[in-house]
Amino acid sequence: VAVVTEAGSLHRTLTVIDAHSDILIDVTDGHTRLGDRYEPVGPTTSCVRGQVDIPRLREGGVSAQILAIFVHERFHGNPLRRALDMVAAFYRELEENAGTIVLARRTSEIRRAKQEGKVAMLLGLEGAEPLGTDLALVGVFYGLGIRVIGLTWNWRNAAADGWDAAPEPGGLTPLGMAVVEEMGRLGIVVDIAHLAKPGFWQVLEASHGPLIGSHCRTGGGWHSLDDDQLRAVGSRGGVICAIGVKQPNLAAIVDQIAHIARIAGVDHVGFGADFYGLDLAPTGLEDATKYPALTAALLRAGFGRENVAQIMGGNLLRVFDAVLR
Ligand SMILES: [Zn+2]
Repeated sequence: VAVVTEAGSLHRTLTVIDAHSDILIDVTDGHTRLGDRYEPVGPTTSCVRGQVDIPRLREGGVSAQILAIFVHERFHGNPLRRALDMVAAFYRELEENAGTIVLARRTSEIRRAKQEGKVAMLLGLEGAEPLGTDLALVGVFYGLGIRVIGLTWNWRNAAADGWDAAPEPGGLTPLGMAVVEEMGRLGIVVDIAHLAKPGFWQVLEASHGPLIGSHCRTGGGWHSLDDDQLRAVGSRGGVICAIGVKQPNLAAIVDQIAHIARIAGVDHVGFGADFYGLDLAPTGLEDATKYPALTAALLRAGFGRENVAQIMGGNLLRVFDAVLR
């Protein structure tokens, strides 16, 4: 009970940042609204919707959420159009929820949102498909507020190969290298989640600032990062965020966080639930209201208060401070 109480009071003081959610897909398709508390039929553990929304983020004490713009294969005929539809859907939500959320383009906006009791929303592109082969679109998306870009999902595109690109994933194309360079020039955070290994090492070489992995697995399997990759991101000042969904329970999430902290350093670990990514949520972290339970679990696992603050968002904030302007 003492740990729970301590965790609760600590949690409220933290700048909690969740590095990845796919809820904009469902918002764009009209299945839910950011401001609605979607109530699934039955427990959230058996439903892929209702994991995150503004009411739940506020209840869970989350200060900032990265919202992914992910273009599904069925829109690959015109991925730019779909991405713009998703941006437009976000801006509609921003207008309607002006009292509770802000679009954050720099860290001062995250800090101000925290002071005002609002949730800061950052926009991220998950996959460079909407850019096509047009480098100038990086600046257009920057103008729309996009501050994080991952070059790929699991597939191949004009910029790079994703983790599952057939038959054998390769690295970045010259366009992909140019996109990374342009991101550095503008001040956009590089996200390496989903990128195939050859591209990962090229991105590390081509980029200058710290980078992030917004929702990552370790220990082998589906787009998992090996220890060399964890160490490399750490040595560059970056942050690897352990993923929430597809994990069985809170303990498994804490194990992944502990592993990343052990290999990359506690300064280089964060968390990205991947809520609304069409995967089931873990027991103990069924939805965004449960973030205080993650803080409590980290304290119980032996992390000190300072380290818990770093893991829950402080480390990501440091990267945003370094990259965003
Ligand atoms: Zn993803």
